Amino acid sequence: MPDVLVLGAGMVGVSTALALQAQGQEVVLVDRTSPGHETSYGNAGLIQAEAAEPYAFPRDFASLLRVIFKRGNDVNYHLDALPDQWRPLLGYFHASAPARHQIISRSYAKLTRRSTADHAPLIAAAGVEALIKREGFRKMFRSVHEFDHAVDQAERVARQYDLALRIMDGAELAAAEPALKISCAGAFHWLDSWSCSDPGALTQAYADLFIARGGRVQTADASSLEQDGRMWSVGVHWGRLAARHVVVALGPWSPLLLRKFGYHIPMLRKRGYHRHYKGGTTLNLPMLDVENGAALSPMRAGFRVLTGAEIARFDTPPTPVQMVRAEQAARELIDLGEPVEAEPWFGNRPCMPDMLPLVGAAPRHKNLWFHFGHGHQGFTLGPTTAALLAEEIITGQVPMPELSPKRLS
Ligand SMILES: Cc1cc2nc3c(=O)[nH]c(=O)nc-3n(C[C@H](O)[C@H](O)[C@H](O)COP(=O)(O)OP(=O)(O)OC[C@H]3O[C@@H](n4cnc5c(N)ncnc54)[C@H](O)[C@@H]3O)c2cc1C
Repeated sequence: MPDVLVLGAGMVGVSTALALQAQGQEVVLVDRTSPGHETSYGNAGLIQAEAAEPYAFPRDFASLLRVIFKRGNDVNYHLDALPDQWRPLLGYFHASAPARHQIISRSYAKLTRRSTADHAPLIAAAGVEALIKREGFRKMFRSVHEFDHAVDQAERVARQYDLALRIMDGAELAAAEPALKISCAGAFHWLDSWSCSDPGALTQAYADLFIARGGRVQTADASSLEQDGRMWSVGVHWGRLAARHVVVALGPWSPLLLRKFGYHIPMLRKRGYHRHYKGGTTLNLPMLDVENGAALSPMRAGFRVLTGAEIARFDTPPTPVQMVRAEQAARELIDLGEPVEAEPWFGNRPCMPDMLPLVGAAPRHKNLWFHFGHGHQGFTLGPTTAALLAEEIITGQVPMPELSPKRLS
């Protein structure tokens, strides 16, 4: 009988399985599809060592009005999502007050700082160096006004968290990215971060490594989870698969399962879209077009254009208005070519109101462990928070109490 069931084979679940296996546990990784097919597939592929400060809710009046009246492309919302999401939104607004955000960032920076070092041995052991570029990524500004306005903040972050930052003017950026068709004001080149040209394939490669080391992946629906005395089990085609511990790592789906056990998780799901393009030019490094809320990532499947956040009900059909504008913005920048897919992909960033993932023991059930809520940086942080969770499960010590799910109760 296995020691642990890990529910969810995204970057967070796969990393959990590997970390527990490294501690000598027999682990079964459970998913209804194959590893790395959901949010861990659709992201921008950045391993963001520079993301020391998590995305805060805009607090100044001008930015708030911009969001409310949908003037920017970085945020969109559906009115019918608000009855369900107003509590997490309010919590997010509260946690984003500058003093609180600084305290949260102190914890967040401890995670992002070690993210590349935690990925490195897995990348090497999985034999997927070819998917990784260790040259950072750029935040680009078109207008001199916006660029000048953002410089002080970028320099402050670099100084405070000891991050490597190169501030590039328009000419330097044009030389570094010859495919750019327009002249831009400049860019911040964050050098500590890495990028991956196929995030789904990296997640799958980590799962293959887990299997090669003796682990097992089982297809099953996690919603069949039950507790029977000291054991946890899920339904599989031949009966029930049981273990003493269960880790919930279902990303944005985690709250749906946990409702069954009486937990009402205030998760804010920030939907994002992407689409690939082929037949045009490309960039050397991923780039964020800040004023247009568009991320641009060269990938194996094509040139991936991604959007910012949309607050929508989990079950509503896609409304890719941000995607249309992101594509327009990308076409202004490079020869984009033609779309690969008939429709854009969409998925949800699983965000907690206080911007910190839930990592640790469930407040009211023994041997039930939470591992989700990584928001904008789950692809970055999977191996890091997996190491922290494995330490808690094995030793009973809580390495970072501020990540504990007990803060919900
Ligand atoms: C547009 C966009 C861009 C992003 N860019 C970045 C980036 O550049 N860098 C970064 O670090 N992060 C990025 N993120 C965030 C990142 O992708 C997520 O935080 C991360 O992928 C979450 O991983 P996860 O393993 O928790 O969830 P997922 O990858 O969604 O995995 C959850 C798994 O649970 C499974 N599952 C769900 N329900 C069930 C069930 N009932 N039974 C069995 N299995 C089930 C799913 O099949 C899935 O495999 C981005 C997100 C988006 C949307």
